Amino acid sequence: MRQIGHASLSGARSTVAGIPLKSLAGALLLSLAATSALAVDMPANVDSQRLIAADKEPGNWMSTGRTYDEQRYSPLKAITDQNVGQLGLAWSYKLDLDRGVEATPIVVDGVMYTTGPFSVVYALDARDGKLIWKYDPQSDRNRAGEACCDAVNRGVAVWKGKVYVGVLDGRLEAIDAKTGQRAWSVDTRADDKRSYTITGAPRVVNGKVVIGNGGAEFGVRGYVTAYDAETGKEAWRFYTVPGDPKLPPEGKGMEIAAKTWHGDAFVEQGGGGTAWDSFAFDPDLNLLYIGVGNGSLWDPKWRSQAKGDNLFLSSIVAVNADTGEYVWHYQTTPGDAWDYTATQHMILAELPINGKPRKVLMQAPKNGFFYVIDRATGELLSAKGIVPQSWTKGMDMKTGRPIFDDENAAYWKDGKRKLVTPAFWGAHDWQPMSYNPNTGLVYIPAHIMSAYYEHIPEAPKRNPFKSMYQLGLRTGMMPENVDGLLEMAKGWSGKLIAWDPVKQERVWEVPYVTIFNGGTLSTAGNLVFEGSADGRVIAYAADTGNKLWEQPAASGVMAAPITYSVDGEQYVTFMAGWGGAFSTFAGALSLRAGVQPFSQVLTYKIGGTAKLREPAPRPDTPKPPALSTDTAAIEAGAKLYDGYCSQCHGIHAVSGGVLPDLRKLTAEKHQMFLGILFGGRVPDGMPSFANAFTPEQVDQIHQYLIKRSHDLQNEGEAWKQFNAKR
Ligand code: CA
Repeated sequence: MRQIGHASLSGARSTVAGIPLKSLAGALLLSLAATSALAVDMPANVDSQRLIAADKEPGNWMSTGRTYDEQRYSPLKAITDQNVGQLGLAWSYKLDLDRGVEATPIVVDGVMYTTGPFSVVYALDARDGKLIWKYDPQSDRNRAGEACCDAVNRGVAVWKGKVYVGVLDGRLEAIDAKTGQRAWSVDTRADDKRSYTITGAPRVVNGKVVIGNGGAEFGVRGYVTAYDAETGKEAWRFYTVPGDPKLPPEGKGMEIAAKTWHGDAFVEQGGGGTAWDSFAFDPDLNLLYIGVGNGSLWDPKWRSQAKGDNLFLSSIVAVNADTGEYVWHYQTTPGDAWDYTATQHMILAELPINGKPRKVLMQAPKNGFFYVIDRATGELLSAKGIVPQSWTKGMDMKTGRPIFDDENAAYWKDGKRKLVTPAFWGAHDWQPMSYNPNTGLVYIPAHIMSAYYEHIPEAPKRNPFKSMYQLGLRTGMMPENVDGLLEMAKGWSGKLIAWDPVKQERVWEVPYVTIFNGGTLSTAGNLVFEGSADGRVIAYAADTGNKLWEQPAASGVMAAPITYSVDGEQYVTFMAGWGGAFSTFAGALSLRAGVQPFSQVLTYKIGGTAKLREPAPRPDTPKPPALSTDTAAIEAGAKLYDGYCSQCHGIHAVSGGVLPDLRKLTAEKHQMFLGILFGGRVPDGMPSFANAFTPEQVDQIHQYLIKRSHDLQNEGEAWKQFNAKR
């Protein structure tokens, strides 16, 4: 047990906490009050019935998408387009670490369950933000470097008095919702020699906790596992890509998939296809929908001899929720070559298609299409691009396959470097979209971005530090210097797009300075809430997109907000905290947004008057040590840095401020450089690189960083021009 803080739930808590008194008829109120009284004895007492009937208790937000259909729409309407201007901070709670925050909080009967960096779980009183308990799963910090995109976590699930969290190091844990103590723990990794990580929120369906994993950039084979919610016993596992062709396939899904892969290089490479984020569940069809990720390696020539669709990469797969058996799939990007994951948020709804109501699944994956799919059969109903796409000339509706544009995107065919749109963070990444049934619109946090892709003539190899494949993935992909980087990224920007899924057209949009703005929430008050990369929390009119409210958030905001009510008061919560993939790897580019990482829970209500906490100002940049004249060593250091360090500390050693900017090391840190690399700074998540480098190589990296510290004095003008574009 690693419980850190605990205060028991107040027995005096209202027995109808969480129920919006005004909106419920008397009879219904009585029956719900009885349920709620029970909930005081057992917090987070959520089951199938409650989840399926979530609209009957709109004051709660009981699963990550609020409902199994994952619409992220709230029927609450005490806060509306008429009074949202009076929204003020009700309370804030400071998280322990200032790194990326991507969690959607859960609120049940007046208690909020949310997560911060390194999968730390917080139970807070939803009325005032007071800590009830905190649970730190002690994620293995030595393995933090095996996570592609910061030590983020997207939140918990709850079920019958337990809280479930996926831990960055690959564990799934159940916590007693009353005491904050661990109930069970399983290691979900199929192979502990490979870099599996978990950042996604679990879902609980039919008494089973479902969780996937990440790691396709590091050479793993993806799968989803379901565990008994009570005991943690494994119920089923569904692999998303085939294993060794010499072994029998695991079920019908793998039988279908195996025929679409060629050669056996993918076995060592892992194949990828990790399901690191989205699920949706239709209880009537008893289908669980899995969003599947990109290939490992990215280059299809190395992965599968440039042949085959490579199922189920970049696919939506429907499986039987009880058994994990394959039912249908739709592949968004056959034979994916650009990191076009289909792990993006999926929304279930009933839409009028050709005049008839259809049960559909909607997704806007990285590849830039917005898909409407029949969720019983997997039939493609429509698909349109939400942003410019250079890799495709459009959709062939007869076959349901995109028409590829080889000239502009097939880098492995002619060996030419290609600037491809969208690029690896997609037209839309993990930031959840939302669907408002009143306006009929989907609110998508979208990206406009292009990046280079290039075929590497020698087969990429695992580097000796665990199973990282970064060199193989990245070489040739990013411009060699800062000027090239800025040139490539000058058009990168963000957009909030309100999309009509029936007409497949944009209704309105709002531009943002950079990519990686927050997920969205929409409400019956005709509102859309979103946080921004440049540090604001904002409300728009859901029908027109008019901005109705805005406040500073003291940090970039990526996570999707939620709304709930306690004792008749409606609240809106934003998890603020800059970090994640963009600000770590391409920190250089995120600086345009001018944000700092400062992680806190920000909760608003009408007339709230709490004061916003602000981060301390950054210290001045120290003077760097003398520059080495050994240019060969600096060059070697640059290559090592690119392969091992850039994923977290930023390409070209420009940090987005989440992890230390290594161009700004203090004299003391320069002294300790070898010790830090070999010993790690484990509590902060910096692993030991003793097995990766020789002391000479460490010195080469150090010399490169000193060079970059000197560059810092001179490259101000390029940055000024880049940032002036905001
Ligand atoms: Ca990926």
